[in-house]
Amino acid sequence: MKIYIESLGCSKNLVDSELILGTLTKSGHQISSEEEAEVIIVNTCGFIGDAKKESLDAILDLSEYKKTGSCKKLIVTGCMVERYSEELSKEIPEVDAFWGTGNIFKIGDALEEESEKIKMYPPGTIYDPDSPRVMLTPTHSAFVKVSEGCSRTCTFCIIPKMRGIMKSRTIDSIVGEIHGLAEQGVGEINLIAQDMTSYGRDIGCNLEEMLREASKVDGIDWIRIHYWYPWGISDSLVKLVSDDNNILPYIDMPLQHINDRLLSSMDRKTSSKKIRDIIKQLRDGIDDVVLRTTFIVGFPGETEDEFEELLDFVEEAKFDRAGAFKYSQEEGTPAGVMGEQVAEEVKEERLERLMEAQSEVSLEKNKSLIGTVHQGFVESVENGNYVARISSQAPEVDGYTYIKREEELILGDLVDIKIIDADIYDLYGEIV
Ligand code: SF4
Repeated sequence: MKIYIESLGCSKNLVDSELILGTLTKSGHQISSEEEAEVIIVNTCGFIGDAKKESLDAILDLSEYKKTGSCKKLIVTGCMVERYSEELSKEIPEVDAFWGTGNIFKIGDALEEESEKIKMYPPGTIYDPDSPRVMLTPTHSAFVKVSEGCSRTCTFCIIPKMRGIMKSRTIDSIVGEIHGLAEQGVGEINLIAQDMTSYGRDIGCNLEEMLREASKVDGIDWIRIHYWYPWGISDSLVKLVSDDNNILPYIDMPLQHINDRLLSSMDRKTSSKKIRDIIKQLRDGIDDVVLRTTFIVGFPGETEDEFEELLDFVEEAKFDRAGAFKYSQEEGTPAGVMGEQVAEEVKEERLERLMEAQSEVSLEKNKSLIGTVHQGFVESVENGNYVARISSQAPEVDGYTYIKREEELILGDLVDIKIIDADIYDLYGEIV
């Protein structure tokens, strides 16, 4: 059959979409456009309110093809199914099958005539190097999911319920996959997990050991590590990131807040002192380290003073990149039943103020790059410009570097780029 997949949410969900396509094309199905597809799969995100709305809109939009197009089967999978399979099956009868986040390799069963309406396996899927996969990222870049699920208990987070407790892949499995990707010409490996710094705790190894082996793979230019948790960061791990030429000095570490009372109410098991110590450890230990983080504004009980403390921290810590979310009251989470829920308009106003403060920092940081030269992958062409990413620009979440199209460049090439201008998010460069 002709298959189309709509992949929503995070990079971990994108990897699942790639595995679903790999499994189905291996069984002889073909990938097609949404207009021509006989089977449409929506891989949903169920993390917070906005993401759930986006997933619902996508299901309803694509269900139109059952009336107007060639679609015979509409299948919904992903995190939203883990949370709401019963409700969704009642509310959206157009959907033929609901498949949880578990055992996506068997999703082909949902294409069968007599398939079950709802099929749930234990949540979360980990895979191996020989798992069939169709890449949805540019040919030079790939996400490698090193573990599935999370064993932490952050009070605002529903992920452990949707993806299960942390299950790490073996080092051999991860390194084997990276070898395979290098042979396909991939130069940038983005390592992803829910809680990267806890990698391996459940199987008797750790992040540092895995990175040592992963960085030995020939043909890989960049290894970028996402989703550090502010815990268990040893000096030897920092030294490895600093010394190893393939591991990028790029640390993506969601912090969520800096106020001690709120960090405790979030059950983040860290403190403002520990966070500042980790930032100092990373900046002292890794030259030109690029720090990315994420914050939550409007967590239940957050006072104006506590928010001001976060705002001051943004100006003090000067993260190269910082994103922020309005707290989303999620049923099934401890924070979801907390009192003192913050009003939506207050959350909105705090989000604006925080992003305003960060944009000043980002602009200053980007401006400081003018005149410097960096390696970057040429990713695409847009409005007559080449669109590239230098090492401090992660896929999907950070800005891009735009290069005037004065000479022919090959997409996927790693080139030297001199930064000639900058704005809050993006950079402008010329080929050296
Ligand atoms: S570390 Fe906390 S926020 Fe991140 S996935 Fe785990 S429980 Fe959720």
